[in-house]
Amino acid sequence: MIASAPFSVTEVVGPRARSYSRARCPAPRIPKRLLDHVLDLPNATWRLQGVSAAWARCLLLAFRYTAVSDEKREGLIWLGFNQGTGAVIDDVLARLRWSLAGGSQWQAPDQDVRRQWEPGWDAPRLEARVRPLLEHHVRLEMAPFLRTMRRRLDRDCSRVHAYHNDQRLTAQKKLATLAGAAGEKADADRKRETLRIAAVEREYAAKLDDLRHNYALRVTVEWVQGLELLVPVQRFDVLVKRRKGERLMRIDWHAAVRLMEPPASEWGLGLGRSRLVCDDRLHITDPAGQAPCPSCGKAWCRACHPTACPRCGQAIEGPN
Ligand SMILES: [Zn+2]
Ligand SMILES: [Zn+2]
Repeated sequence: MIASAPFSVTEVVGPRARSYSRARCPAPRIPKRLLDHVLDLPNATWRLQGVSAAWARCLLLAFRYTAVSDEKREGLIWLGFNQGTGAVIDDVLARLRWSLAGGSQWQAPDQDVRRQWEPGWDAPRLEARVRPLLEHHVRLEMAPFLRTMRRRLDRDCSRVHAYHNDQRLTAQKKLATLAGAAGEKADADRKRETLRIAAVEREYAAKLDDLRHNYALRVTVEWVQGLELLVPVQRFDVLVKRRKGERLMRIDWHAAVRLMEPPASEWGLGLGRSRLVCDDRLHITDPAGQAPCPSCGKAWCRACHPTACPRCGQAIEGPN
């Protein structure tokens, strides 16, 4: 349903990069409380190991979607990522954009700042993150449009059905009155009404085809703008423990907009604050990434086995 134009990360960097001019931003006063608000690990424990100042390389991307059916709808969708932690930064992004509109605290990054850049994502990684999120956002944006379209379609289908049903019933009644009648005229009348019923049915099918065609929804998504931001953050190192294993995860507090980002996710859209940790390799995923198999019931990690259930082979259609 959704087609998107290819894009390349190299088109994004360069003149469309900005860095926040105040490198020193105050550290949050009660860091653990900030983490409590954004981190929910139902099957693991965590401990804050440390907080340190860093620069985060964030990517803001804008896409225009166009949906055409019997009506046309257009809109813009913004996506934001912190390439340093892997987090989806929708809320942070909204405030960063607002801050950027003010402008005065943003500048083209100088050489010194550029040297501190962490490596950005390559195009395949970016595309793997962008595609499911775009689809998710387009579906959300389109939901009200789809609902009203569905109502119009239902109304038109009912109208077409009522009209053709009347025609068919009238012909059937005439046919019924002719039952048992003999003679050439009766035969001709029967034939005429039978043909009329067949014609009504054909016309009804054709009208339904027309409606299907008129209401078919085509959505295209086009990448229109990209901006790379180098922003000062307080980087939280969090030690996550699951059974006998432990690993480090990073979550940034964005000093420029005083907001904590959600935890990164290695499978799923990475929205919300709940994450589950896998037993084998300690992947941190959206809850759906550790869900039971719909076929055999075994829970498994979609980051470890991204294409199919390891027990029964049931293929999955995941957001990654
Ligand atoms: Zn299975
Ligand atoms: Zn795993």
